[in-house]
Amino acid sequence: MSILEAAPEPLIAAADESDAIAALHAAFAAQRAAFAADRMPSIEVRRERLMSLIGMMAANRERISAAVSQDFGAHPVPASDLIEVLGVIGRAQHVLEHLEEWMTPSERHVDALLGTAKAHVQLQPKGVIGNIVPWNFPFDLSVGPMVDMLAAGNRVIVKPSEYTPACAALLAEMVAATFPADLVHVAVGGLELARAFSSVAWDHLLYTGSPNVGREVMRAAAANLTPVTLELGGKCPAILTPGSVTRTNVESVIGTKIIKNGQMCVSVDYALVPRGDVEVFVEHARAFMAAAAPNYSNGDECTGMISTRHLDRISEMLSEARDRQARIVTLQDDETVDRVTRRMPMSLIVDPAPDLRVMTEEIFGPLLPVVPYDNLADAIAGINAGERPLGLYVFGDDTSVTDGVLASTTSGGAAVNTCAIQSALPSMGFGGSGMSGMGRHHGIEGFREFSNQRGVVVRGEGDMIDAFYSPYAKAAGLVQAVLSGS
Ligand code: NAD
Repeated sequence: MSILEAAPEPLIAAADESDAIAALHAAFAAQRAAFAADRMPSIEVRRERLMSLIGMMAANRERISAAVSQDFGAHPVPASDLIEVLGVIGRAQHVLEHLEEWMTPSERHVDALLGTAKAHVQLQPKGVIGNIVPWNFPFDLSVGPMVDMLAAGNRVIVKPSEYTPACAALLAEMVAATFPADLVHVAVGGLELARAFSSVAWDHLLYTGSPNVGREVMRAAAANLTPVTLELGGKCPAILTPGSVTRTNVESVIGTKIIKNGQMCVSVDYALVPRGDVEVFVEHARAFMAAAAPNYSNGDECTGMISTRHLDRISEMLSEARDRQARIVTLQDDETVDRVTRRMPMSLIVDPAPDLRVMTEEIFGPLLPVVPYDNLADAIAGINAGERPLGLYVFGDDTSVTDGVLASTTSGGAAVNTCAIQSALPSMGFGGSGMSGMGRHHGIEGFREFSNQRGVVVRGEGDMIDAFYSPYAKAAGLVQAVLSGS
């Protein structure tokens, strides 16, 4: 079962959405017309748009934080500032620094048969791009990719998740106050709108969310042969290689896990730990939580689950593990679940049976299976037996060992001696592999993803292009010359 099926009761009612769908089609038509009138915005125009985006995020920092807290029930303000606001601004600043270089056509080699011809690859805007956003990072995953899309000269329509109504309303207001609707527009609605959105004949469609819905989105896009970028989820492992179960490394695993209370696509889903070091891992985890976030689920460090259904889903996974006699280590004294702010303690599930839901589904919440292994090859084989993860984290000081883990696994991204940071670098493409997604945004990779990479040849003199035209008898000498290398 996907997180989507089990989780959030829709918070934006899916009543009659015909008005929202009509507004979407009108916005798309307006953007198409505006794109047709200006297919290659200048660097100055793109810079201006990115500066407006930065200004919009900075001016609304406090409102963004308040909207995120409202939708999640509870949310640390510094985490909103860092991820939802400053992360997006940093991304735009990086693009501004590199835009000229990225927009410059890249010269390509031409062989002697083409004489003095010149060739280059020109990155053109694709046109009008749709972005379907999930609930977990409502601004980072809407305005973040917008940076790459606008930088590449496109027009953008964003559809926020129906589970973050306060964020969706704020985003729509901010965008309408900053950009004309034929450049950037926010379409707010429920599931009917979401389905209609993926059926629009976009020039490119970005979807971030669960693999099951990703399939539906790709199916709808296929009808228009719309190219898609799918940013999906999965089970990201942290592998602690022998000798690496140190205080610092365990802090890195648990510290990452409590970001957004585990509701992060690149969170550590489970930890693979040498069997003899499991108790050391547990003790470091306890000590970290006692120092960093005592009474975690009742304090300021803890984000609420997005909905009571999602909270119930995580509680059910924990109950199943308990009923099946898995060892549960709760990382705080007070074990109560607060259904008002939708928060519960962080728990380790030590040595879970492989058929438990915590081992077969993406968790997306405050549970961390600690899976013992007897040798590293078995741990790697276990990872490779599952779907390719979005992120893979390996800990250890011996680079021959950590390099070996990287070489024998495939994932969308990876990090050594840390977790999740690969998803936050403005300079580096981010995305999945296999079931965790396809395509990239962030960095030059994102700029290229949202560009039409047009190869252009400009004919010169002294070429042999005519040899490709009939009658082919005149090509015989050329074929002979190529074969003999003369
Ligand atoms: P969600 O429920 O918010 O859904 C995502 C979006 O899909 C929403 O905008 C929703 O309206 C839309 N949607 C739902 N049904 C649709 C349909 N039939 N057609 C078109 N659109 C539809 O989010 P979710 O799916 O519960 O998100 C959690 C998942 O997202 C997890 O698996 C997580 O790992 C993944 N995720 C991935 C990334 C990444 O960058 N790879 C980032 C964040 C989350």
